[in-house]
Amino acid sequence: MSVVSSPLPPGLTYSSTPVAYHGADEHDREPNRYGRRVVQVPGHTWPARPEECSEGRAEWVSDHPDAPLVCCGCGLDVS
Ligand SMILES: [Zn+2]
Repeated sequence: MSVVSSPLPPGLTYSSTPVAYHGADEHDREPNRYGRRVVQVPGHTWPARPEECSEGRAEWVSDHPDAPLVCCGCGLDVS
């Protein structure tokens, strides 16, 4: 296996859906410059897609040392 830049803890995967930007407000949205992706957590559905997300807070997905910091609203990796 090749080395990936941001390993995820077991059970977590990145969504393959490309993210264009983050934020529902067209004047306040952030372009996805770094190719960030949504983290998929088993048994959890994020309330919004990044393009329609109005959440500003972020949280650690788990207490695993490799757990990414994600947006609470859409699961976008903001580590
Ligand atoms: Zn979000």
